Amino acid sequence: MSAAVLDALQRPIRDLRISVTDRCNFRCVYCMPRDVFGPGAQFLARAELLTFEEIERLARVFVSCGVNKLRITGGEPLVRHDLERLIALLAEIDGVDDIAMTTNGALLTRKAKLLADAGLRRVTVSLDSLDDEVFGAINDVAVPVAQVLDGIEAADAAGLGPIKINMVVKRGVNDDHVVPMAEHFRGTGYALRFIEYMDVGSTNGWQLDDVVSATDIVQAIDARWPLEQLEPNYPGEVANRYRYRDGAGEIGVIASVTQPFCGGCTRARLSPEGRLYTCLFAGHGHDLRSLVRGGASDPEITERVRSIWTIRSDRYSELRTAQTSPRAKVEMSHIGG
Ligand code: SAM
Repeated sequence: MSAAVLDALQRPIRDLRISVTDRCNFRCVYCMPRDVFGPGAQFLARAELLTFEEIERLARVFVSCGVNKLRITGGEPLVRHDLERLIALLAEIDGVDDIAMTTNGALLTRKAKLLADAGLRRVTVSLDSLDDEVFGAINDVAVPVAQVLDGIEAADAAGLGPIKINMVVKRGVNDDHVVPMAEHFRGTGYALRFIEYMDVGSTNGWQLDDVVSATDIVQAIDARWPLEQLEPNYPGEVANRYRYRDGAGEIGVIASVTQPFCGGCTRARLSPEGRLYTCLFAGHGHDLRSLVRGGASDPEITERVRSIWTIRSDRYSELRTAQTSPRAKVEMSHIGG
């Protein structure tokens, strides 16, 4: 692997989140609410999506700039047909140490083994409650909890571990499900991670009052099962990790609102139509597809990526927290996991 390219704040480019579709089979109220993403919503036409070969080519370029971890996301990545074919292409790239995927899990039971056989290493599954009524009210498509739990088991059986479970916590919606979720996943070997509810622009009507802080979440669990904070696995790790003192495993909290971690952010995001976003909250992506389809050589595309990364100075979350003036437009199709 060549030396990592550093941005204006000396942050290397290490992770690439590849969003393979802007579509999703859920309509989570905090992410793609039905009133915005209903029947009339415009999604990308097939010809606008990067093909698997185009994604592979761009992934190689990013790896040559220092990326060693790939995460597949969406939208919901499993609604993209034959995703395992993309995984097999990415698994061939020298210098990739890890290929993971973030999914809502609804289609995982039928896909887990195919993906593992193709070279996927790990999955993170999003699950916001164990109560069908609450979960259904959040996903707004009546997918039952059991379908996601089956998907998690299938992923485990296929060797896609260690599995992480992501729970977004929103006050008044599922904050009283924090302790039951912890209870369910304690001792299973799955790492449950609680995500502070984030501002995603005009689509989810975000208010600071809706956020349950990571501190409050940790305190609620610690009061029931004492916790001990763990050292990060690597610099810039997104989640703050804690272990149960009784040895029943670990949890993580992703405090993107109350304790932003821009200083360690090494993540680039590639949108389904081939735009490079240097921050989850960036309002503007840099078009790489026109280079790919316009006959640019690999060195030319590499130079473009390097030049974008070198001047990167995004630290949206830190500034937002400092100013407490939340508002940004996030394209949910590249939010990643
Ligand atoms: N469809 C996949 C899934 O559900 O995991 C991948 C895409 S989804 C946008 C990635 C992650 O972002 C999920 O864990 C989801 O819960 C989380 N997410 C979406 N909207 C969020 C918000 N407003 N605040 C915090 N996390 C959010």
